[in-house]
Amino acid sequence: MATLLDEFLVGELESLRSRKLYRTLKVLEGQQLPQAEFDGRSVVNLSSNNYLGLNTHPRLVEASERALRQFGVGSGAVRTIAGTMRIHMELEEKIARFKQAEASVVFQSGFTANAGTVSSILGKGDLIISDELNHASIIDGCRLSRAQIRVYRHKDTQALEDILAEVQALPGRKLVVTDGVFSMDGDVAPLPQIVELAETYGAMMMVDDAHASGVMGTCGRGTVDHFGLHGRVDIQVGTLSKAVGALGGYVCGSRALIEYLYHRARPFLFSTSHPPAVAASCLAAFEVLEEEPALIERLWQNTRLFKDGLSRLGFDTGASETPITPIIVGQGELAMKFSDQLFEEGVFAQGIGFPTVPEEKSRIRTIVTATHTREQLEFALEILARVGRRLGIIPS
Ligand SMILES: *Cc1c(COP(=O)(O)O)cnc(C)c1O
Repeated sequence: MATLLDEFLVGELESLRSRKLYRTLKVLEGQQLPQAEFDGRSVVNLSSNNYLGLNTHPRLVEASERALRQFGVGSGAVRTIAGTMRIHMELEEKIARFKQAEASVVFQSGFTANAGTVSSILGKGDLIISDELNHASIIDGCRLSRAQIRVYRHKDTQALEDILAEVQALPGRKLVVTDGVFSMDGDVAPLPQIVELAETYGAMMMVDDAHASGVMGTCGRGTVDHFGLHGRVDIQVGTLSKAVGALGGYVCGSRALIEYLYHRARPFLFSTSHPPAVAASCLAAFEVLEEEPALIERLWQNTRLFKDGLSRLGFDTGASETPITPIIVGQGELAMKFSDQLFEEGVFAQGIGFPTVPEEKSRIRTIVTATHTREQLEFALEILARVGRRLGIIPS
């Protein structure tokens, strides 16, 4: 018997299918490697955020195993009750030192770090000024805060200044928030100008460096370090789930900010803390970032090699400046076909269409990592060329 719920859901799924937005999950066998097996097919993997290969790095695996044996599998409580283990504190101290911040707090994910922070530091009567391409977790945090939300055109500092000037006289606190590196286009926020505007108009400043953590700045310290803006950004968010290789998110800032989040950030208060083995992996990851700078150099070498190849072939890679390189093809259906045919021929690059990006900017998204070999990248370029020509995306 179809329940009321299922009747509704089946209808919704049908509608997704008819709009070609229905998707199945690709299943990975074995490890998340540059060459990996998804849905039974071995492919060059251009879809993971494992920028430095840390999620299979021996030092992280060993640290995790040791912590597992020593401390067990779970923390057993939320941080504010009994779930703050010594290793959680060590990780936070490590991150604060690494980011050259006064203090840091770790959340279960980058998503909860953003949503929990934005929603707790602002409230009714306050104002959030947000780049239109900011991550969903920032948007959810904005909504949960009940502050007024003003969205400015992507990276448009004039549009940002217009809004700041317009709201200057309003009561309430103002927060300017931007991704450091944007996840769909791989472009970088004009942070020096944004920070300057926030200072001029007396707004607080927050940067989400999920895709810059372990990728940009000295040893992967992020965009604030990259642009030399230490001390001028109130709130730095990073993820432990991408280049750091494990799972989690963190916030860095003043001691007062961190202590306030201990008391008010709802995911921190109401959701159990990390298993100790995850915290141990992350601790080891920051040691690797500091001690093996060659990894980040290799990431950028591979990025240059791959980007050069794509532009030689005549692909439209948009405004990307980082290891995230979109290949923009136009309509959503073509992007999905491109992705499907690449997969058939041994290259995994996710197709992305509306509503994640505007329909006419549908694309596949590629991410190279430090651990891709030259052969793997050249193979990927060869297949991209072949399929791209076949589908008329580039001239033959
Ligand atoms: C991936 C991502 C997040 C979420 O991080 P998780 O640790 O995966 O929850 C937040 N912000 C941006 C910009 C991201 O790309």
